[in-house]
Amino acid sequence: MTIESTNPATGTVVDTFEDDSGADRDERIERAAETFPEWRTTPIERRQQLLAAAGEVLRENSEEYATLMTEEMGKPIDQSRSEVEKCAWVCDYYAEHAAEFLADEPVAGEPDAETKVVYQPLGPILAIMPWNFPFWQVFRFAAPNLTAGNVGVLKHASNVPGCARAIEDVFREAGYPDGAFSSLLIDSDEIDAVLEDDRIAGVTLTGSDGAGRAVAETAGNELTKTVLELGGSDPFVVLDDAPMEKTVETAVQARLINNGQSCIAAKRFIVHTDVYDEFLDRFVDEMDAQVVGDPMDEKTDIGPQAREDLMDDLHEQVEETIDRGGDLELGGEPMDRDGAYYPPTVITDPLEDSPADQEEVFGPVATVFEVSDEERAIEKANDTRFGLGASVWTADLDRGERVARRFESGLAFVNELVKSDPRLPFGGVKDSGYGRELARAGIREFVNAKTIWVQ
Ligand code: NDP
Repeated sequence: MTIESTNPATGTVVDTFEDDSGADRDERIERAAETFPEWRTTPIERRQQLLAAAGEVLRENSEEYATLMTEEMGKPIDQSRSEVEKCAWVCDYYAEHAAEFLADEPVAGEPDAETKVVYQPLGPILAIMPWNFPFWQVFRFAAPNLTAGNVGVLKHASNVPGCARAIEDVFREAGYPDGAFSSLLIDSDEIDAVLEDDRIAGVTLTGSDGAGRAVAETAGNELTKTVLELGGSDPFVVLDDAPMEKTVETAVQARLINNGQSCIAAKRFIVHTDVYDEFLDRFVDEMDAQVVGDPMDEKTDIGPQAREDLMDDLHEQVEETIDRGGDLELGGEPMDRDGAYYPPTVITDPLEDSPADQEEVFGPVATVFEVSDEERAIEKANDTRFGLGASVWTADLDRGERVARRFESGLAFVNELVKSDPRLPFGGVKDSGYGRELARAGIREFVNAKTIWVQ
């Protein structure tokens, strides 16, 4: 069977690929399993060198990879270039720190015994990844895990097969052994068969909570370790003393980055009544001023949504929220032009359990709520089944940290938009999943923390 990737800006076919279902799938998993024993015993210094080389390959071919991402999923080209650079950064980061993070740890036990913890790789890890950051999500997994001595098997989202193959090439060009990292171009209905395969030692999924539940169920039956990085409905809390100019500027950026399709985008803006009118006026003006257009054009702020069907789902959420009493302040209709273009949209006062209030809204649609005080703001921020990121805006840093500590989220930022950084753990609570990526925590998810006792 062949798989096509389609440019959402034009509707034209970007490329066509042979899929890996059936025997090809098995062959690729077998190659991964056969590579593991050799790879796990390769000294970590060598694995770090290869990772640094992967960072170089990324930087050398940045324009090619950036263009591919933009063609397959519509991200503005500048943001694609930044994504390639960030992938190179995560390679540099673990190339420098992996050995330190995985060093043996002496632990005090019986006085006459030597006791310690050692960190050993598990085997082939399946990474099921989304299309929204088609390079970053994969490198965030691969950089720490390959360097820990695991081998990676990627099942990328179906609309970015070119990115999947290009990432495979990055590792090949960097000098990794064949099988250390491979991609499976398969449909998601083949994933259960992969998870039931005894050669797979762990699975990490970044995607929607529905996909997370399905994978966790099968992995649970197999007793296979999982990490789940799922969706979010991040609150952006504006207190009465927030510095308004920077707050509004960042609010727009936090909502619209990646065409509004980021798990950690600010989605619900919760604003203190004393500054509500000012915030809303300025926010709507700034959202309206964004340039929507061809993602290959440097001047574009917002490109098309990644797929036509995703834009239709987004529009249904908007319509239902408006039908149920939300006020439309801006946007709200697909744009009258070719491609999956949806404009910046602002809705106020949605009903408590309307889609914009309770579901993840994955596109350039902001929902603004007015609250009477700080306590109500925290309550509203936490009134969601998700718990990925959250931010609070205030001139008083102590107050900001107090509020941040009360957010039910894996990431809480004061006066900054929620972002991922190789040096800091990343992950969620509640329906946003469990486990952590990045930093020391991320490289220790798929290792056996083995206790050694020498008497
Ligand atoms: P999906 O959940 O639709 O897809 C993610 C991946 O899971 C794809 O590879 C997809 O394959 C696969 N998949 C889908 N359904 C199943 C299933 N039932 N069983 C096994 N695998 C499945 O998400 P999107 O690609 O649409 O990405 C957007 C979602 O990802 C949003 O909810 C977003 O918040 C979340 N996300 C979370 C992040 C985090 O770090 N927490 C970061 C980025 C995104 P296929 O394409 O073939 O269907």
